[in-house]
Amino acid sequence: MSDSAEIGVSDLKLREPLIFERGAPARQAFSLPECDVPQQPLAKLLPEALLRKDIEGFPEVSEVEVVRHFTRISQWNFGVDYGFYPLGSCTMKYNPKLNEEAASISGFSKAHPYQPQHLSQGLLQLMHELESDLCEISGMDRASLQPAAGAHGELTGLMLIQAYHRARGENRGKVILPDSSHGTNPASSSLCGYQAVEVTSGHNGCVEPEKVAEIMDENVAAMMLTNPNTLGLFEERILDIARIVHEKGGLLYCDGANLNALMGIARPGDMGFDVIQFNLHKTFSTPHGGGGPGAGPVGIKEELSPFLPVPVVIKEGEDYTLSYDLPQSIGKVRSFYGNIGVMIKAYAYIRSMGPEGLKEASEAALINANYIMTRLQGRYHKPYDKYCMHEFVLTDKLQNKHGVQTLDIAKRLMDYGYHPPTIYFPIIVKGAMMIEPTETETREDLDLFIEAMLRIADEAENDPEIVKSAPHKTLVSRLDEARAARKPNLRWRPSG
Ligand SMILES: *Cc1c(COP(=O)(O)O)cnc(C)c1O
Repeated sequence: MSDSAEIGVSDLKLREPLIFERGAPARQAFSLPECDVPQQPLAKLLPEALLRKDIEGFPEVSEVEVVRHFTRISQWNFGVDYGFYPLGSCTMKYNPKLNEEAASISGFSKAHPYQPQHLSQGLLQLMHELESDLCEISGMDRASLQPAAGAHGELTGLMLIQAYHRARGENRGKVILPDSSHGTNPASSSLCGYQAVEVTSGHNGCVEPEKVAEIMDENVAAMMLTNPNTLGLFEERILDIARIVHEKGGLLYCDGANLNALMGIARPGDMGFDVIQFNLHKTFSTPHGGGGPGAGPVGIKEELSPFLPVPVVIKEGEDYTLSYDLPQSIGKVRSFYGNIGVMIKAYAYIRSMGPEGLKEASEAALINANYIMTRLQGRYHKPYDKYCMHEFVLTDKLQNKHGVQTLDIAKRLMDYGYHPPTIYFPIIVKGAMMIEPTETETREDLDLFIEAMLRIADEAENDPEIVKSAPHKTLVSRLDEARAARKPNLRWRPSG
């Protein structure tokens, strides 16, 4: 086995039982002084219905056992604070701790949604300014901060498009999507009652306007497009596509999950897009993964503004208020105002970076991706012969000759201390590995990742078994993923 320790992994991960298997009867994590007043049994003081029954098998553990337990299992997980996380499309960039600090200012973190508006002026101002910052970055006119994630933003955007057509007396039934689109795009379309119609990408990985023209008609409500697309390529003929869609009365929807490639460089609103969702947790630096809170605000062009979800934040003189006065609104899409904590982090990020800083971030994201791609091409098959944007796709074609597949390469990367890239997506590329380094990595870290990938390419040729049986250094070896999902065994010991 080649020595992956050089690249920065050691094996110090402590095995740890379930908390229910720790401790001993009557052991506890606190001690209280003797009671100096007469004691009464609880049953004499509270009605029977309010008394909690004993919980069978409840852990009885000391303080240090609790602390070690959770600290140890936290190290079984992989996070961006732990190492390089090139999970394409997910933009796993480092999230500055300053954002967390801003979100935990008590005036924000302790605010109550029903707090009177005159006591919430700071938060309302933040929401108002975040809306206009997002509009400035994307070239849109208005935005709603309510949606709770990217997919929810897509659904909200499509609901706005539907309301727009209906207000004009039109009931359109279809949405056009490229075959490279993220799975949430067809899902959002069908959830909104639309029939999803696929357009196949051209040989260069981009959508061809001629093909859009063939299927575009007056029954198409919108076309959804990701730009740069999920192959990491800029949709070069976007202006032609926008014209074709608009000429038949349709609207153009931008899946804005890849905005990290464009900040300060190009604006979807200027490319002809009418609607976009922002994945605040990706582009604007909120810790994500594992389903944690995100936010998917939707930016729109002016003609869609009568339909925005309520409430909207408006500014009158120096005062900010929540307005529900929008008779054609699609209504609320999320309780209260959305995931405020995520908005605060995005705002802190945008304001601390400034316009120049955001542009530099996107430029560095593009340079980092192209650097890795250029150094790996030749050793890994590259399906599209172009420069990339903030991410790129390689395949396992060269390794297949030795019986090694994308899944094996991904597993072997874990032995070298890396989170694997996104694999087998986009589905139009066989054996895809989608690599997104982001702007927050140093040159040294990019070089180490490249070295690991090159070594795996060597191993695939000279010692394919070691790749096919990876991972070897992780706490558990290769899982039967279907069984692990259906019948999880949370114990580190073999089940008894
Ligand atoms: C992440 C992503 C989405 C979905 O966003 P969520 O916040 O995970 O719901 C949609 N499209 C693309 C291209 C994405 O990368």
